[in-house]
Amino acid sequence: MPDTLPELSPTEQRRFGRHLVMPEFGQAAQRRLKAGSVLLVGCGGLGSPTALYLAAAGVGRIGLVDPDRVEETNLQRQIAHGHATLGRPKTESAAARMRDLNPDVVIERHDVYLTEENALDLVGAYDVVIDGTDNFPTRYLVNDACVRLGRPNVFGGVLRFDGQLSVFDARSGPCYRCLFPAPPPVELAPNCAEAGVLGVLPGVIGTLQATEAIKLLTGIGTPMIGRMLIYDGLTLGFDSIALAKDPACPCCSLPRDAIVLRTERMVCAALPPGGSMTPAELEARLTAGEAFSLCDVRNPPEWSGGVIPGAHLLPKPELEALLQAGAPPPDPFAGHATVVVYCQAGLRSAAVIRALVEAGHDPARLVNLEGGFGAWRGPRAAAAPLAATG
Ligand SMILES: [Zn+2]
Repeated sequence: MPDTLPELSPTEQRRFGRHLVMPEFGQAAQRRLKAGSVLLVGCGGLGSPTALYLAAAGVGRIGLVDPDRVEETNLQRQIAHGHATLGRPKTESAAARMRDLNPDVVIERHDVYLTEENALDLVGAYDVVIDGTDNFPTRYLVNDACVRLGRPNVFGGVLRFDGQLSVFDARSGPCYRCLFPAPPPVELAPNCAEAGVLGVLPGVIGTLQATEAIKLLTGIGTPMIGRMLIYDGLTLGFDSIALAKDPACPCCSLPRDAIVLRTERMVCAALPPGGSMTPAELEARLTAGEAFSLCDVRNPPEWSGGVIPGAHLLPKPELEALLQAGAPPPDPFAGHATVVVYCQAGLRSAAVIRALVEAGHDPARLVNLEGGFGAWRGPRAAAAPLAATG
């Protein structure tokens, strides 16, 4: 942050009057917000309220990271977007709403996935990072880049009716890896597309993330460093637990220069026993005339974005219910052909294969599509929907 804080224009003096009138906030905090910058990773359920409130509050520069386009199924919770922007990049859609709230905010659009190649450049260009993703590989990249560069990471997580929030700042508290050194097995890590989420829940947690970012930029209050807020939407209970720094943490116990970013791979507790195939290999073998049964285990809203031609649609929860009930193997698992099972990113399908094998199916007939439908569609569409934006 620059030593000399920028002055507020007469327009800003009027716009931020409700801030300026509070003695704990006042001109100094507002000018710190104007000088400050925030990187929002994800413009979905968590990123929507965060983006709008930070723009409205007068944060000077906001970076938006999201490669996805707005889809109808997003609008149940991703309120920065709307029908008018269906099919448009989420960063463009969110930026338009943010500029309408505050034309002076500088918005930097990054229509990309956060990767091990770009994470340090992106994170390093901002004062505070807000983690608004719900996929573990991105969460670990955000964490590791923030620890390495000494940036606070405002964490939010949502699933079904439950929310979590913390501020990870390894300079004075634990990091995300102190709590969770590595991603959980796929079976224990359902995402919102699979398990669902109450639409207003990311609104609650995202708004709290915006609050923490404002506190960090202005220096007011006490940020949630070393504590985690646990929110239960069904009882409306807020609890907070203390978090300890792990002296053996695989990330923040290292000298910062020794932290190397790498993309975590999500795996099953036991690797799926069947084989796997890349989308390029599948395409080549289909073109060469090989016969496969294709089974799409995603949920109906995900099918609307497209399927692999010829696929049988059988959502994972339905399939699991059939297996639990001991029902006979559903088509396409009844025949003799090799079945290529796919979901959006190749994680749920791996769990499905494992469940099928446990139920007695022949692992030699089951093949997981690596990277799922997102990788299949890949460069053909910029809108690979898994970016997991809550
Ligand atoms: Zn740590």
